[in-house]
Amino acid sequence: MYRDAAGADYAETNSYMGGASTVTRIAIVGAGLSGLVVARRLQDHADVTVFEKSRSAGGRMATRYAGEFEFDHGAQFFTARSERFRRFLQPLIDAGAVANWQARFAEYDGSSLSTLRAWGDDYPHYVGTPRMNSIGKMLSANLDIVFETEITGIARGRDGWVPAAGAGNESGPFDWLVMTSPAAQTAALVEGFDDFSAFCDERRMLGCLALMLGFAKPVDLPWDAALVRNADISWISVNSSKPARDSAFSLLVHSTNAWADAHLEDDTDFILDHMLDEASRVAGEHLRSAAHRQVHRWRYANIDTQAGPTCFVDDGNQLAACGDWCVRGRIEAAFTSASDLAESLIARL
Ligand SMILES: Cc1cc2nc3c(=O)[nH]c(=O)nc-3n(C[C@H](O)[C@H](O)[C@H](O)COP(=O)(O)OP(=O)(O)OC[C@H]3O[C@@H](n4cnc5c(N)ncnc54)[C@H](O)[C@@H]3O)c2cc1C
Repeated sequence: MYRDAAGADYAETNSYMGGASTVTRIAIVGAGLSGLVVARRLQDHADVTVFEKSRSAGGRMATRYAGEFEFDHGAQFFTARSERFRRFLQPLIDAGAVANWQARFAEYDGSSLSTLRAWGDDYPHYVGTPRMNSIGKMLSANLDIVFETEITGIARGRDGWVPAAGAGNESGPFDWLVMTSPAAQTAALVEGFDDFSAFCDERRMLGCLALMLGFAKPVDLPWDAALVRNADISWISVNSSKPARDSAFSLLVHSTNAWADAHLEDDTDFILDHMLDEASRVAGEHLRSAAHRQVHRWRYANIDTQAGPTCFVDDGNQLAACGDWCVRGRIEAAFTSASDLAESLIARL
């Protein structure tokens, strides 16, 4: 056995299907954490190709750039409860792609500050460094990822799966197809596979709206991260206070899932004004001095804890799925789902 840069253990022998000369071909849709973890775990057992619709890896562990400002506008931080996830993270920590954010953490009830404490005293709250998307960048090294390729249809031919990025842009065939896109996006592609569709349909993901604020001068706040209750926003963080950031002072505000689901299609100015009103009510009127203001709509941000299997495998059709939506809307859950699926597939190869 040996360990790769991401700390995964690999058997030294390859698995083959259909005789000694044919290596199993696996297509993975999505290069978020789930897709990257599955790809890294399988790459020594199979010929793995990842299809990703955006220009870079990491999915919702994302960073938005705007001149001198940077915003981790998706996932904010993550914890590591399981020993398996801690082992996976260690090489990323050693390489400087992950660090413990020792934030000053506040809790608000409406506009009343109820708690203020240092996270340094708690368990680690990890972030990607110098940006949240650094994790995806590092994990994508040495993988065969086809970027800017949105899979819009899948078909099972005589020789296996043929994913297509539009008419005339087919790839494959592949022996196995692994879906890691959010539940509703996966459901749209696997229509007609009733068990798979039912598995996806049972898992309803919730939206989130992100407001990015960039300032010419730092705003004086007594905290780096704030959890907000009883408001239409749920979170404010000083993005530039995270470790290893050298960007200008920036704040990231998240709406509640409920407010996002009710206003996802609303006019951008309305969303921006309302979220800025809410953030100013909590953190002070000086937030209105923001020189840069931008909204991002996350249609599928997270999901409550799910019962049932941590991943999906259809042996008959050689079709599988993993992702946070199989477990819970958390980075560690995405890792758990992907690791469980990879182990289960390796046992079949
Ligand atoms: C606003 C927000 C806040 C969050 N906060 C936290 C937090 O503080 N802590 C925490 O632990 N987690 C948080 N999360 C959740 C966390 O980001 C996710 O659990 C995790 O990143 C999910 O990884 P994944 O690989 O399962 O999915 P994703 O990251 O969504 O990856 C799926 C990938 O598939 C690609 N894709 C989709 N459809 C196609 C297609 N048809 N063809 C090709 N590619 C496709 C997407 O572009 C994406 O890269 C947050 C998420 C959001 C959006």
